Formats: sequence, C-alpha cells, structure tokens
Amino acid sequence: MAGVIRRLDETVVNRIAAGEVIQRPANGVKELIENCLDAKSTNIQVTVKDGGLKLLQIQDNGTGIRKEDLEIVCERFTTSKLQTFEDLSEIATYGFRGEALASVSHVAHVTITTKTADAKCAYRASYSDGKLKGPPKPCAGNQGTQILVEDLFYNVSTRRKALKSPSDEYSRIVEVVSRYAIHNSGKSFSVKKQGETVADVRTLPNASVVDNIRGVFGNAVSRELIEVGCEDQKLAYKMKGYISNANYSVKKCILILFINHRLVESSALKKAIETVYAAYLPKNTHPFLYLSLEIAPQNVDVNVHPTKHEVHFLHEDSVIESVQKHIESKLLGSNASRTYFTQTLLPGLSVSGGSEVKSASAAAESSERVYAHQMVRTDCRTQKLDAFLQPKEKPPPDPEPVGPSSREAATKTVQQADSIEVDEIDDADMLEGLTEQEAEVAEREEENANGVQRKRPRKEQQLQEEDDEDLTAAATPKRRVIKLNSIKELRAEITENTHKGLQEMLQNHSFVGCVNPQWTLIQHHTKLYLLNTTNLSQELFYQILLYDFGNFGVLRLSTPAPLYDLAMLALDSEGSGWTEEDGPKEGLAQYIVDFLKKKAEMLEDYFSMEIDQEGNLTGLPLLLDKYTPIMEGLPLFILRLATEVNWDNEKECFRDFSKECSMFYSIRKEYILEAEPGEEQEAEVNSWRWKVEHIIFKAFRTLFSPPKNFSEDGTVLQIANLPDLYKVFERC
Ligand code: ADP
Ligand code: MG
Repeated sequence: MAGVIRRLDETVVNRIAAGEVIQRPANGVKELIENCLDAKSTNIQVTVKDGGLKLLQIQDNGTGIRKEDLEIVCERFTTSKLQTFEDLSEIATYGFRGEALASVSHVAHVTITTKTADAKCAYRASYSDGKLKGPPKPCAGNQGTQILVEDLFYNVSTRRKALKSPSDEYSRIVEVVSRYAIHNSGKSFSVKKQGETVADVRTLPNASVVDNIRGVFGNAVSRELIEVGCEDQKLAYKMKGYISNANYSVKKCILILFINHRLVESSALKKAIETVYAAYLPKNTHPFLYLSLEIAPQNVDVNVHPTKHEVHFLHEDSVIESVQKHIESKLLGSNASRTYFTQTLLPGLSVSGGSEVKSASAAAESSERVYAHQMVRTDCRTQKLDAFLQPKEKPPPDPEPVGPSSREAATKTVQQADSIEVDEIDDADMLEGLTEQEAEVAEREEENANGVQRKRPRKEQQLQEEDDEDLTAAATPKRRVIKLNSIKELRAEITENTHKGLQEMLQNHSFVGCVNPQWTLIQHHTKLYLLNTTNLSQELFYQILLYDFGNFGVLRLSTPAPLYDLAMLALDSEGSGWTEEDGPKEGLAQYIVDFLKKKAEMLEDYFSMEIDQEGNLTGLPLLLDKYTPIMEGLPLFILRLATEVNWDNEKECFRDFSKECSMFYSIRKEYILEAEPGEEQEAEVNSWRWKVEHIIFKAFRTLFSPPKNFSEDGTVLQIANLPDLYKVFERC
C-alpha cells in the first residue's frame, strides 16, 4: 500500500543535517533504486543515456504513488516514511529525508508516471524546482512507478563540468545497480543504455546471491567464494555474506558493504579486513567481499554524511573486530583444505604427442617475456654436485643380508662381474652403463674409430640394427640379433603404448628428491610431480629385459646362493602365501630347485641368470651399470619364477619372467628399511637414494617408454604448479 505523505514538522527539518543529495548521476540512481525497494518492487529497470546526464529512467513494479500525493512528492521534506525525530532511530526504510526527489527536481526535468493497485489508471506529472508543472494527467500504465530524469544539472553548469566522461558516469551507475542486485537476490534488476536491447547487467528473480555475483563479477570470483555469517547479541549485530578465499585475488579490493540494506562505505572495516587477507594473499593483491550487516537501527548514525556513504555506528571498533575474527577463522578453515593434489593429472601433457610441451631450452630461447615468478631453474641438463660425489670406482653396495632370519645367507655377496662377457655384448650396451662423461668420451673415441655418428636414441639404433642385419653385423659384430617374434611383439606393445608427453617429461626432468623409497619428487618446467618410483622402476627394468634380451652382462655372486635355501626362505616368508595344503615346504623347495635347473640353460642364454649344476644361483642379469637389486627380494623372486611364470608359451614365458625379474629389481619399500635420522643404516639408506637419483632416474632420460596408464593410475601426480606455489611462498 502506498503510504500517506505528510509535511515534516519544522523542528525535524532543522535537525536533519540536510545537504546536497545528488552529486552525480550514480547518487541519483541509488536514491531512486532505494525508493523502488521501499515501495516493495520486485523488478527494477534502469535506462541511461549519456551517462545519466541526458536521461535517467527507473521503472519499477512497486506500490505506486497516490494521485493526490503527486502534488507534493517533489517538495523537500515530504516523505511517507517518517514523522517525528524519534522515528529516525527506528527507520527501516531507505529514504527518510524526503529529499531525493526534491533535490533531483531542482537540478533536472523530472517526470513521474505511476499507478497504485486500486487506481483505475496511471497518472503522469512533470516537475521543476520541486513544483508540479501542471495537474497530473491520466494515462495508461501498469502498477508501479517510472521516474524519468532528463537533462541532469542543466541549470548547474559547474557541476556538469566537474563530472567525468559519460562512460565513466555510466560505469558508476552500472556499479550501483549491480551491487543492489547482488544484495537483493530474489528481485530482478537490469541496467542498459537507451536504445540498446541488451542489458549490461541483468539479474533474474530466482537467482541466488552467488549467481548474481557470478553474473556481475564472473566465474573466477564466484567459484572461490566462502559463505560467511555471524551474530553477536551483545554488540547487537548480524553479518552474512560471501568472501573470496586465499586462491583468489584482485588488484583492487572489492568490498560490497550493505549496512541495514543500504549500500555504504566504511573505511575502518575495509582496513581491518585487508589486514586479515594480507597474511593470505600475494603482495599488492586484494580480496573480494560482499558483506551485509544488520545493526540495531538505534546504533547506526545514518545521518553522518549528506550522501550517506560513509557510515559510523555504535561500538564500531568492537563490531569490526568481531567481523574481522570471523573472516579470519573462515579463511583459515578454507586454507587448510586447499587442494594441492591434482588427481586428474598432467594438464600440460598431451597423450597424443609431445608437441604441445615446449622443452626447457626452447622456452628459454623464445622471445616470450619471462616474469620474475617464472624464473626457476628448469634446465634439466644442469647437474647437481652430488652426481660427482659418488666415487666412480666404488663397488656396488656391500653385502646385503638375504633375510633377517638367515645369518648364513647374509654372508652371500653380490659383485658386479668384473669381466663383462664382451663377446655377447655390443659396445652400445656398454655405453649405457657408463656415466654421461664417460659415455661421451667413449662415443667420441668410437666416432674417431669408425667415423660413424652415433647420436640416435638407443632403441631406434637397436631396431635399425636388427632390420639391417648385414650392415649391423659388419659394424657391431658382437651384439646378438634377436629374431624371436615373441620378443618383437612384446617390444612393439611397449612402443605402441608409450605416453609421449610423459616420456618428454621424464627425459627433461630435474630431480628434486626422494620422499621415501616409493615416492620421488621431480620438477618439469615450472611444475612439481610426485612419481611412484616402484611402478616406474619396475617398468624400466621390464623394458630393459625385453630390449636387451639375450645381451645382458652378468652380476656374479661372490658366493653361489643355494636355490634350495632361497626357496625355503621364501616359503617361510609371509609373502609366499604358503599353506599346509601346499604340502611340506622341503618338498616344494626341492621341486623348485629341480625345475629351475631344467630351465638353467635357457635362463642363462637369454637372461644371463646363471644356475650351476649343484642348484646354486651364481649370476643375475646386469640391467643397469652400477645397479644391483636389493637382495631381500631374491627369495621371493626365485619362488615366483616357479609359481607365476607360464613356461609353456614362449611369449608369455618371456613376459612373465621379465615381469617377475623387474619386480625383484625395482625399488620397493618392503625391502628397504628406512632408517631413523642419525641411525647407523644411513649409509645404506643413502645408497638407495643415490641409486634412485643417479641410476634409475638417469635411465628415464634415455631408456624409457612410460606406458599411457601411468598418467591416470596415480603413478605420476602433479602436485604443484610453481607460479601457484610462488603466490603462497611469497607471503612467507
Ligand atoms: P524519501 O525516500 O526519503 O521518503 P524521496 O524524495 O526519495 O524521499 O521520496 C519521496 C516520497 O515519494 C517517498 O516517501 C515515497 O512515498 C514516494 N516515492 C518515491 N519514489 C517512489 C517509488 N518508486 N514508488 C513509490 N513511491 C515512491
Ligand atoms: Mg528516497
């Protein structure tokens, strides 16, 4: 229902610190929108021409103005909302001074078209200097009010000149409308330039606050919002709203503050909030906040400033501190649950080809500007000092116990064969085992010797050798050429299933460190990855077993290890899964010995796994130079050779053997005791770390075709993107 408009008492008039209400078009729009909301409108449409200086039109669907009130509606201090000074303290509506329309009508041509629910028709009235220009004229119209403001400041040239460009004024208007739209979700708003069909901001009646924030400020903010809300009975205030989390920041702080549903500013509150965020956001960046405070009306001094923007209220410091605390707690909560793991994985790596991934050197050469936060060492070719610390002559780690229960077995040692069986091994293979420097020297010597450029990757080289058998035979007579289809097929499976992006990443990675035997951190360009060393090393050895099939060096055991003892050790271990039903262990162990002895010739020929007449293991394949498998895994390997390998089918036999053998050679946490810091085992622990970094991960650079599933099964996890981390660490 439209309120009855009366003249304010003189004393009230004097006590209101009246001032200039309309300073610029956006102030006018704010006043007029508040009038619409006071009139219970649910749809408010703003149309603007020349930044509001030529035309401002606000159409609503509210209660309308009664015909008899149209005469005084534009006079100063006429309002339907307040009668005595005491009412001021309990004011629940926006307007109370009866000043807005009057002020506007003094500096512009105002036309009001309005219809109340019970009026038969709408009426139109025009005003100047607060006075009706003529009697209201009946006209057609829907319920609600349309206020048309034309030629704003036509009679105040100084004001007109002080205003910035129309486009600047327009964006201020859009800002006011969109903020009221966000605060008044459930009501629809639109603002557009006259003549345009598309609104610059439009909100829908069924949209939520977050929908409206998304509509106005975009998705980047809206998806990083935390809902806030608190209440304090003693301080007599309530607060709710949405604030951006620590993932989001902007150049300028956006604080949309409503106090008692009025868009206001509070520099004190803004400052307090910025202090909280300073701990979370990068330097010189700021948050987004929409806060709606409701403070007991008697505590708010809405009358402090003529334009009513900057507000003050009772217990201001305490309320601000309380709000500050609440925001801090919300930010802390959201910060703790920030997601660093990206299980969806490897956004920078394409499955199809490595073409999208720029190499580190290519990126460095490109003319793209490199910002300070991008300046990280990503060149994988720069060596770390400890690569040189390991003495070159150092033999493989000292005797490793075969199992805690067997002191006898613990004395068995493994030594790298000092005489590699040269007649079976191509010099290309020997190169692989050498350090890079050694390899380079050897390569140069090689080139000098036969004038052949040997820079192709090993695998290509090997395939070529096999294809051009004659040529190969002449150039490298010592390498055995494998013509078995089963092996060729198994190799082709590896090649076809290669994840090119992952391969490029492993080729050009920078080693960061071992987290534990199972997990290793590497850096590639500006991203940090966590890799499953167990899966990767197992696959590496599997591939080596197939590519170097029939061409391995030998790791000869200094003391032969009886297969029987190994089998018994395995059967005693939990991992064997032995039960009473399997029969006595002794019988099984003997069966394993006899069985493997029958395969000894084949195992030695193809895999350099040596078993002597007495049933002792005397040699294992040398898969990577300086690399000895961890002997704790040997018993189970022997047992599984008898139980897990399909010896009847050639291809499956080679595949199964390679799988079992690679499992034994891989870096497995169950076979590595992690020493407490400072414990004696440190030397040994260091040795697996050294192996992982300088043997396994080095091999990934040249010898490895990572399978596609590694990008999806958790073997490779991207855990951080350096520019993102930089944002976090900058504050530390
Ligand atoms: P105030 O809002 O402080 O009362 P205004 O000058 O803004 O003073 O408005 C004067 C009066 O005109 C209001 O009290 C209200 O009764 C009436 N009015 C103004 N705009 C509207 C509108 N959009 N719908 C209904 N009534 C309105
Ligand atoms: Mg008003």
